[in-house]
Amino acid sequence: MVRLFSTPMWYDYHLNRGLQMLLQSYQLEIFNNECMPGAMTVQCFAHLDQDVSAALPFLNAELGGFEYIKEPPSVTFKLHGKLITVYGRKIAVNALKNEGEACKIVEWLKREINGIWEKRDAISPRYEGMPRPQVIQILKCLPKTNCRECGEPTCMVFATRVVEGAKGSENCPPLTVEAKQSLDAYMAGFSVGSDGIPW
Ligand code: SF4
Repeated sequence: MVRLFSTPMWYDYHLNRGLQMLLQSYQLEIFNNECMPGAMTVQCFAHLDQDVSAALPFLNAELGGFEYIKEPPSVTFKLHGKLITVYGRKIAVNALKNEGEACKIVEWLKREINGIWEKRDAISPRYEGMPRPQVIQILKCLPKTNCRECGEPTCMVFATRVVEGAKGSENCPPLTVEAKQSLDAYMAGFSVGSDGIPW
């Protein structure tokens, strides 16, 4: 099932200069995953009414994209188990709980795109993805008992979920204080992590 929503156009009157935001409006399309009809999550496309391609290298630099593609430009983020890809004319988000979460994430991205675009003169654009955490390094910090207390079948699966940003050190109950500090310190060097949901 597909549902469409419109957003009103609005303008940024920041400092009374009447500046027009780069991204003003979009159409939101929510749909179920056809490959997984029984899935409990939904996906969304935000079809952008303005082209944000020029902002993508700055967005990548500021938010730490997992992957950046130059032509046509797109930047992908892995946040809290979701893949979020921003193209020039579209935003795609998967693994959403519901429409409300889709709206929150797209509105957050809209604020980020417009805010970053406004201060782009102070940002060095980035045309490649950020370094990624290594599963093996995360695994080294874990107890490796495959106890399943985290809800994952093995420590290896848990480690891949940490790479995706879907799990953090707080989700492994048997982790010692020292091991937790070690894992947190390692993950602090990457953009994905357990520092709260930004939207
Ligand atoms: S709770 Fe920790 S030790 Fe147990 S399976 Fe999950 S990651 Fe491994």
